Amino acid sequence: MASNSVYNRSSIRSDRQGPQGFSRSGVGHGHSSVRSKVPSARRSVMLNSRASSIDDDPEPGRVRVAVRLRPRNAEDLLSDADFGDCVELQPELKRLKLRKNNWSSESYKFDEVFTESASQRRVYEVVAKPVVESVLNGYNGTVMAYGQTGTGKTYTMGRLGKDDSSERGIMVRALDDIIANTSPAHDSVEVSYLQLYLESIQDLLAPEKNNIPIVEDPKTGEVSLPGAAVVKVQDVDHFLQLVQIGDANRHAADTKLNTESSRSHAILMVYIRRSVHGKVENESSSTEKDSRSDILGGNHVPTVLKSKLLIVDLAGSERIDKSGSEGHMLEEAKFINLSLTSLGKCINALAENSPHIPTRDSKLTRLLRDSFGGSARTSLIITIGPSARHHAETASTIMFGQRAMKIVNTINLKE
Ligand code: ADP
Ligand code: MG
Repeated sequence: MASNSVYNRSSIRSDRQGPQGFSRSGVGHGHSSVRSKVPSARRSVMLNSRASSIDDDPEPGRVRVAVRLRPRNAEDLLSDADFGDCVELQPELKRLKLRKNNWSSESYKFDEVFTESASQRRVYEVVAKPVVESVLNGYNGTVMAYGQTGTGKTYTMGRLGKDDSSERGIMVRALDDIIANTSPAHDSVEVSYLQLYLESIQDLLAPEKNNIPIVEDPKTGEVSLPGAAVVKVQDVDHFLQLVQIGDANRHAADTKLNTESSRSHAILMVYIRRSVHGKVENESSSTEKDSRSDILGGNHVPTVLKSKLLIVDLAGSERIDKSGSEGHMLEEAKFINLSLTSLGKCINALAENSPHIPTRDSKLTRLLRDSFGGSARTSLIITIGPSARHHAETASTIMFGQRAMKIVNTINLKE
């Protein structure tokens, strides 16, 4: 498929002044306009945490990549005698050594290296919290998990932790933080929960809705899914119920289609609208004013900040053996590879600063289109298992993560 998507790099900034100077911020929520700059006086709505804000980030646009090692399971233990370990972690150096053969290994640097004993809480705080903070301040954010099936993507992202809240994954923790830092009276937090399977988007909150189209605003390039159910979240318990319903629908669809959820991508979209009150100097013309501003007058005008958070639990990255696959299976193998292969191609192109980013080649990359570029903040967690019997898949996951580390979101996306 030919690509006509081009990154216009004429707008690359040579300085690093943080998000104010960034050229692009958008949400695909079907709302009319979005402010593109956050006045400095309004950027004081940070979470109370140690995690750095985008403003004091020395590399504001770089995609952050963490690696997480799954603890050994029974299968690993059984095969250890034959295969041994595949990786050695050096968390204090943020490095990972991948064994090449019995004599040598290759060392790779990441933004963070989580050992098998890393807590869900720590993973959230390092990988997702900075993204959530910037989303609360009006910027788009994305957190993605990539790795072979069985390495802990769903554990990391989607674990509900209903019996033990310390087990909660990134999705629930993110919503918890967002709800705690917004006010039901002035702000709104809404979610859509979707599955992308065989290049078709299914609504996990309204399972009768199938093949939901992706709509791109021709002017702004913003991506939206107007056909998907959008549910206003009241509190964390409500969110837990929604995800539980969505996951049950996902399993029901798997049974019906005779497939496994490891072959589809699960996508949570969180839409946030915040009314921020406060004195603003040098009000930018691109700042969207609430209608109440006319009544209130003066400088004390509410501004609506709109942003979007994507939390993506990607399909298993393992190569699907096409030989021997027939009919439906072959089509599935082709399509699953299409979305992940296309993501890999976009990541390679972005890492190489290529002027052509083939975002149009698959639904996944069309959905992620505004996750790379402008002021979007993106974190990737790659998950691996310990056993050398999966050496090839582990090596390929690590290389994917290494390439993603080279992406810097200071480029402006244009058609
Ligand atoms: P994936 O989504 O990548 O296919 P899962 O998240 O389903 O993998 O994890 C596979 C199994 O390993 C599950 O039983 C899960 O509970 C377990 N697991 C994964 N990561 C961890 C972890 N960090 N700690 C404890 N158990 C884990
Ligand atoms: Mg999974």
